[in-house]
Amino acid sequence: MVLQISPALPPGFTGSEFDQVLYDLRRLVGDANVLTGSDLGNHLDPYSFSDGDPYTPSAAVLPSSVEEIQAILAVANQHRIPLWTVSRGRNFGYGGASPRVAGSIIVDLNRMNQVLEVDEEAGYALVEPGVSFSALHEHLRSTGSSLWVSVPDLSWGSLTGNALERGFGYTAHGDHSAFICGMEVVLADGRVVRTGMGAMTGNSAWQMYKGGFGPSLDGLFLQSNYGIVTKMGVWLMPAPEQAIVCSAQARNEDDLAAVIDTLRPLLLDGTISTNSMVGNALAVASMITDRHLWYDGPGPMPDEAIRRICDELHLGWWNARFAVYGTPKVAQAKVEVIRQAFEKIPGLEFIARTYPGNPVPDQVHPADRAQLGVPSTDLIRMAGWRGGEPAHTDFSLVCPPKGADAVKQMRLIRARVEEHGFDYAGGFTTFPRHAIALALLSFDKSDPEQTARVGQLFPELIADAAAAGYAPYRSHIAFMDTIADRYDFNNHAARSLQETIKDAVDPNGILSPGKQGIWNAGRRP
Ligand code: ADP
Repeated sequence: MVLQISPALPPGFTGSEFDQVLYDLRRLVGDANVLTGSDLGNHLDPYSFSDGDPYTPSAAVLPSSVEEIQAILAVANQHRIPLWTVSRGRNFGYGGASPRVAGSIIVDLNRMNQVLEVDEEAGYALVEPGVSFSALHEHLRSTGSSLWVSVPDLSWGSLTGNALERGFGYTAHGDHSAFICGMEVVLADGRVVRTGMGAMTGNSAWQMYKGGFGPSLDGLFLQSNYGIVTKMGVWLMPAPEQAIVCSAQARNEDDLAAVIDTLRPLLLDGTISTNSMVGNALAVASMITDRHLWYDGPGPMPDEAIRRICDELHLGWWNARFAVYGTPKVAQAKVEVIRQAFEKIPGLEFIARTYPGNPVPDQVHPADRAQLGVPSTDLIRMAGWRGGEPAHTDFSLVCPPKGADAVKQMRLIRARVEEHGFDYAGGFTTFPRHAIALALLSFDKSDPEQTARVGQLFPELIADAAAAGYAPYRSHIAFMDTIADRYDFNNHAARSLQETIKDAVDPNGILSPGKQGIWNAGRRP
């Protein structure tokens, strides 16, 4: 396929000025590692819903080392060119690898893909940013390690990109950013900083103790445009003797509050070892079947068709899935406690499947993979839910883990999504002290009207949520400013501090301008 890409240049550049920059970059990393034009296919938003694609990069550069990154930064500083860092660049649904500012050069870290260290005793790995979840899983299995890596829904992305974006998986280490320990970061001026114990040359506890001596720096590089992360420590989970994956299927939409309120104490006291997905029937169905088989109308799927899906695919209206790990005795005793708690919900069906700590991937039920740390990309099928050209984007709202809040958010999201003719496929990934409400918005990219409605819907959802006291934690690049505007306490004091830091560490504003609504002084809206 030949991609039709309108040429994008960095802001303020002429073609010949940019040719000089490309010449410099090619000398640094080799011709094959500077991509332009139709070679940029992997660096565009695969699910773009914006008119004329305002997020097209001018080029992508693929360094293989910290030294090459430093040299690229020097070129960018000299010409004041915006860069946009990606690790594997598969942040699909939120813009893929494409930058917030059209004409930025993508710094693509796919070539820096070494697993630098695995410590079996202390349970951690030190990885480069291009290491994918699948690659680390493969590495652990092929070296006979007894450690598990927690994988997100789509395992093709990197541990680094996902953890930095506060993404999640579904094992006991599912809250990925919470299991980062120690980073190496290249700042805009080329300085290399190691966080935590890594700040001391030769310290042997870099991946074991998150602190250090003084203020913690790691958080500054999460969802951030202050640096390029080139190494990241990640804690890995020891394989349990036994894993029991449980699902609790509640029949009615109104059971949501009871499901969330049943989960919370079991998550808080550790009876359940993981977080819990709580997906509605359409979220589950969109991964395993096609919409038109159930309903092919123009508007949202009616309840009667959803009920048919529940009955025929043997799903609940709400489907909670989580795991318990331990010795067989401990795990089974916990599952009994959980079963009794859930069976108080009338009509609920509770299913538990038992696995050894080193399950053979082929023998794992496809729905249980994530709770066993087995990589998969099954979820992507949901992008094709509306037929035509598959595309999706997600609305990701932070929710207190309480039934009343979940119901409020569910009603708010469902009403607005359906008003625009979409189906509400989503749910709540529930942790002990928060949940993430997700609406998986599939659309047909070849349908201009449907695509335009995605762009209209999100600002409305963000406004509805804000009016009720809620905000997203992550978003497509198109809505970063809109969301950042809602974090407004004391006249946007947090953003003002973020901007002060930005101006100090990146005075030329070369690193990912506009990420999370943080702009340098010259570019502030
Ligand atoms: P994935 O590897 O999961 O595909 P991406 O590479 O698309 O994820 O990264 C998601 C986002 O995280 C990027 O848009 C960027 O803002 C940020 N990011 C990714 N990798 C780095 C990194 N090494 N240093 C700094 N920020 C990064």
